[in-house]
Amino acid sequence: MRIEEHLTTIPDATDVVLDLSNVVRRTGLCSDRKADLARLPALIEGLRTFLGDATVKVHAVTDWSLWRNRDLLSEPERATLLRWIKSGRIEARDGADDRVLEIADVTGAKVVSHDNYKDKHRIFPWIPGNTDRFLGMQPDGAGIRVIAREIPVFPEHQLSSAEEHDLLRAAGLYDRERRLRREPLTRAWRCPEPECPLFGAERTHDQPLPAYRSGKVCCPTHRRTMVELGPLIRPIQVKVSVSGKVVQRLLVSPDKSLIVGRPLLAGHVPPGLLNEISRRHAEVAWDGVTLTVMDLQSSNGVRVKGRKLTPGVSERWNPRDAVALHDKVKLVVSGRHYVFDESPEPRPAPVPGPPLDAQTRVVRVRR
Ligand SMILES: [Zn+2]
Repeated sequence: MRIEEHLTTIPDATDVVLDLSNVVRRTGLCSDRKADLARLPALIEGLRTFLGDATVKVHAVTDWSLWRNRDLLSEPERATLLRWIKSGRIEARDGADDRVLEIADVTGAKVVSHDNYKDKHRIFPWIPGNTDRFLGMQPDGAGIRVIAREIPVFPEHQLSSAEEHDLLRAAGLYDRERRLRREPLTRAWRCPEPECPLFGAERTHDQPLPAYRSGKVCCPTHRRTMVELGPLIRPIQVKVSVSGKVVQRLLVSPDKSLIVGRPLLAGHVPPGLLNEISRRHAEVAWDGVTLTVMDLQSSNGVRVKGRKLTPGVSERWNPRDAVALHDKVKLVVSGRHYVFDESPEPRPAPVPGPPLDAQTRVVRVRR
């Protein structure tokens, strides 16, 4: 995969979120330069190894100073960076910390950073003491080794719950009942800036997370209030793993089911194993609420938790379970758990509005 294919600004696809400036300016990694854009591909290589996922997707947020300050990157590197920003592959803003944590908060993505985010512990209560969400970097020859990090719990975090409540509200991330604001995520938005790479006319279905400030949904880049286009059903991402390593990602849109079989998996699954898969092996469908899987009368069958599915019958797929096309070839739902509803509350009725189909629910499952 080319480096661009590992960059995303879509929350559903994001595995890892990072402050690009923080990575690129870490002297001693890969070279002794003050800033080195090659640290990004080296980090992605390190993440592929650390996560056992050759297809890892990274949401990079950069401070504009990385591009503006001509003493940091070479001219070709600055041109590359600007191209990524203008094509919406990475996000640029003044100050990246809040945005990185906001994306991590909503998506559950891991964060690459050496920062302890001490000043954010009260806004994001999942940070202090965290042992599984933060990753660090170490030099590894000419490359980068990714390591797990633990965030310390600082004594000043002993705050009254009332104070914490106010701070959360001040951050604009929670409503009065301290629930995550879901509405910005279940709607499509348009930025008034015509050339906006993140919320422009070209991006109606695969949008990034909007920002939420002072009661308004805003473009994270231009900080302008955005216009609502209507309900948004986000596609579901399904990963193909071979012997536990992710080799491919498939997007299942609500308007089109996915036929998984030899033609789709060719080039990703080793030939010996590919022969065990039927041409049309399984069908995966997503309607914005329920994910289903069906064995298309394949030779070797489809199994979930050891149970063989009845061929030709569509069954509900619990996103926590792997669907096995073979002992070694499995389909797993990507870790973007917030798309799935786990609360007992009834689903809100779809709101009519052009042009984007019915509404999906967005609920955070885990803290
Ligand atoms: Zn914008």
